[in-house]
Amino acid sequence: MKEKIKKIEAGIQEDLRTLSDSIYDHPELGNQEYFAAKAHQDLLKKHGFQVEEKFLGLDTAFKASFSTGRPGPRLCYMAEYDALPGIGHGCGHNMLGAASTGGAIVLRYLMEEGLGGDLVLLGTPAEESDGGKVTMVEEGIFKDLDLAIMAHPDCHYRPSGNSLALKALAYEFFGKPAHAGASPHEGINALDALVLFYNGVSVLRQQILSTARIHGVIRDGGKAANVIPDYSRGDFYIRAQSKAYVQELEQKLENIAKGAALATGCSFNIFPYEFANDNMVTNETLNQIFVEGVGVFSEDPICPAKDAMGSMDCGNVSHEIPAIHGYFPIADHEIPGHTEAFRDATRTDYAYKHLDEIVCILAYTGWRVLEDPDLLKKIQEEYQENLKKGKIIPYKKED
Ligand SMILES: [Zn+2]
Ligand SMILES: [Zn+2]
Repeated sequence: MKEKIKKIEAGIQEDLRTLSDSIYDHPELGNQEYFAAKAHQDLLKKHGFQVEEKFLGLDTAFKASFSTGRPGPRLCYMAEYDALPGIGHGCGHNMLGAASTGGAIVLRYLMEEGLGGDLVLLGTPAEESDGGKVTMVEEGIFKDLDLAIMAHPDCHYRPSGNSLALKALAYEFFGKPAHAGASPHEGINALDALVLFYNGVSVLRQQILSTARIHGVIRDGGKAANVIPDYSRGDFYIRAQSKAYVQELEQKLENIAKGAALATGCSFNIFPYEFANDNMVTNETLNQIFVEGVGVFSEDPICPAKDAMGSMDCGNVSHEIPAIHGYFPIADHEIPGHTEAFRDATRTDYAYKHLDEIVCILAYTGWRVLEDPDLLKKIQEEYQENLKKGKIIPYKKED
């Protein structure tokens, strides 16, 4: 199987390098990745995938499908291709997308030979900003899929690890304006409510887990010193290692807002001002297959998983279905992400060699699930176990 996978990959490696390089040359910000989405779609169509453009009404999202017509697992690969403002592909998403698309294409040829199941490659825009995967989760599209696989450029091979859950919430208070000198007694001060809220959050911070973070700014504290402010707004981030703990803190902040509103006579409103990211819950059974794949296709060592202090929209997917977000090297020395040096590393022979490897590894990971029905069962059992323990909390409309 190793040789077969390598042979199929060899047939598309030129196209994959061109895909990665051409997207490097045309960096596009989130939700504007028209060039990148089309480049992926063209290659997938060439290899027999059915492509649904502008998936879910997102201009630069797409869904590419391949079906064997036989029953079997429904596997999903996810491609990202958005760039960063100012530095282009500083996160290496040009190569990330090529890796996922390559993995899907190789697997599609393996599936033709008697395996059952369906294969989907999702083009997921705007990972760095308005995570397209969040919308896909909210639209329930992972309900028809069994598992999701992707890998991110790094300076080492690493198994899938964790990432932080994050919620961005705005707290608004509504009072009543009055002349601050002549008739302050007629006013209801929305800034006072926000200040009480801010101080309440600061006090709460002493009693939260040291791994969690709550931080915020005052976005609107009134317009003029001689008018009692009738409106105020503070924007806050809540971060924690689990979605459950973010929800717990969210509830505490709501109580503080209630208290601040009651104390001042204001009313209040809370709304998410950016997409929430859930923590990444790696499916360890699937992760082991990825690690096995690294051993099959690469001479490089596999380093420990990262204890990520960031957030990503793949986390949201991991609460819907079993998922992994592994890492592959594009440099043989440490380069921090989100830099020009990291971006330019995607144009080196070292990176191209590892692109070839990761394409094989991703295809191999999918193939192992297709050829061994017990494996999918174990993967699903682990997911169910995490669900029972509350480690996994699937999206609900009111979230
Ligand atoms: Zn990034
Ligand atoms: Zn990234």
